[in-house]
Amino acid sequence: MSKQQPPVKKNEMVQVTFEDITHDGSGVAKVDGYPLFVKRALPGETADVKVINVKKNYGFGRLMELKETSPERVEPPCPIFKQCGGCQLQHLSYEGQLEYKQKQVKDVLERIGGLNVPVHPTLGMEDPWRYRNKSQVPVGENNGELVAGFFAERSHTIVDMESCVIQREDNDRVVQLVKKLAKQYGIRGYDDRIHKGTLRHVVVRHAKHTGQLMVVLVTKGKELPNKKNLIQALKDELPNITSIVQNINPKRTNVIFGDKTEVLWGEEVIYDYIGEIKFAISARSFYQVNPEQTKVLYDKALEFAQLTGKETVIDAYCGIGTISLFLAQNAKQVYGVEVVPEAVSDAKRNAKLNHIDNAEFVVGEAESVMPWWQAQGLHPDVIVVDPPRKGCDEALLESMTAMKPERIVYVSCNPATLARDLKYLEEKNYATQEVQPVDMFPQTGHIECVSQIVLKDD
Ligand code: SAH
Repeated sequence: MSKQQPPVKKNEMVQVTFEDITHDGSGVAKVDGYPLFVKRALPGETADVKVINVKKNYGFGRLMELKETSPERVEPPCPIFKQCGGCQLQHLSYEGQLEYKQKQVKDVLERIGGLNVPVHPTLGMEDPWRYRNKSQVPVGENNGELVAGFFAERSHTIVDMESCVIQREDNDRVVQLVKKLAKQYGIRGYDDRIHKGTLRHVVVRHAKHTGQLMVVLVTKGKELPNKKNLIQALKDELPNITSIVQNINPKRTNVIFGDKTEVLWGEEVIYDYIGEIKFAISARSFYQVNPEQTKVLYDKALEFAQLTGKETVIDAYCGIGTISLFLAQNAKQVYGVEVVPEAVSDAKRNAKLNHIDNAEFVVGEAESVMPWWQAQGLHPDVIVVDPPRKGCDEALLESMTAMKPERIVYVSCNPATLARDLKYLEEKNYATQEVQPVDMFPQTGHIECVSQIVLKDD
């Protein structure tokens, strides 16, 4: 049997025309049917490319010179766009990004899920910049100098960053201030190569509708030199800081947070509103990062749930109860499940805060709690799921479909696992009616969708 050789060799120069784009913003060109992935190349463009990595079934190239440019190409406003890697699509016009996201969802649903269902045009933002309400910046040292920014591609070196064009200005300001104060007070940056130093991350959370700010200083140990002065200076310089928290992460890991959180000053939570509902958010709880689009997403989820006030609803992967409380206003009873205990405490607190007494929350893995609810004889009319990127566990899908809800609303941040799970649901007598992409992450390749799925007539 003869093995077919890739048609290109490493370091070879080829001229290619791009046909498609991947989720990480790479252009896809085919050389005799062999796909070459090239960062920051757009469909329709022709370019000279240097082949840099050759695998059996695909390869990677570097964009050397554009010969024909797409009308969708724009100048990325961020000076560190190429090095940072946090955004993948700044070189594509915003209209182009929205179209690409719709097409990507449609393609993935067809390819992985075998589904041909209506995928609506992506709901985008009027101003797709400076939207993020949370900043998580790694801190380290470069030649003895404290730096905070991002990891240079495939390395442990932190590149210093002063500003991020998708981050709220307040968050940038806090990070710069912490950096300045840390230097002033002799607080060392953490070096992950030798597992030494003090400050590992600065996390800032901003609440759009109250203006409150939370600062989380993630440290290797409990010790934080000049803590009192640091707190005083933060308060003095930024009066809308209402919470200063220290999180201790002694482990050798790239997971940001450790298990221990201590309030250094102020409250352990900040408060924000989505629509009319007020939410308390603590340092480690998940909270959507784009507040403007969160409202758009949740409104869609609520629309797809078609509640009349009589329904029993389950909200799986409920976080701090955001979707649950949105639904509770129009349902008889809502049950939420979430794996992070702090998030469930927040959810319970949030129900009380809004005088909502028809929502209950359970700590646990959704895939274990769902079968338990099923065994208890719970009969939900509607189930909402909003899982992390890996999608729903099969045990969850199995018990969910066994409970035969009329409707399922699936909120997803990963079209590939969405497609896989929708396919499973199709096989269990459920039909996907429509899919609505919502642009929660402009300038990046990330895609969020909300889908309506209904029980087919027997
Ligand atoms: N619906 C919420 C949270 C969505 S993010 C919102 O819109 O704010 C996904 C959530 O699932 C996170 O809070 C995460 O902690 C939680 N999670 C992850 N794995 C889980 C599991 N196996 N069971 C239950 N919750 C899980």
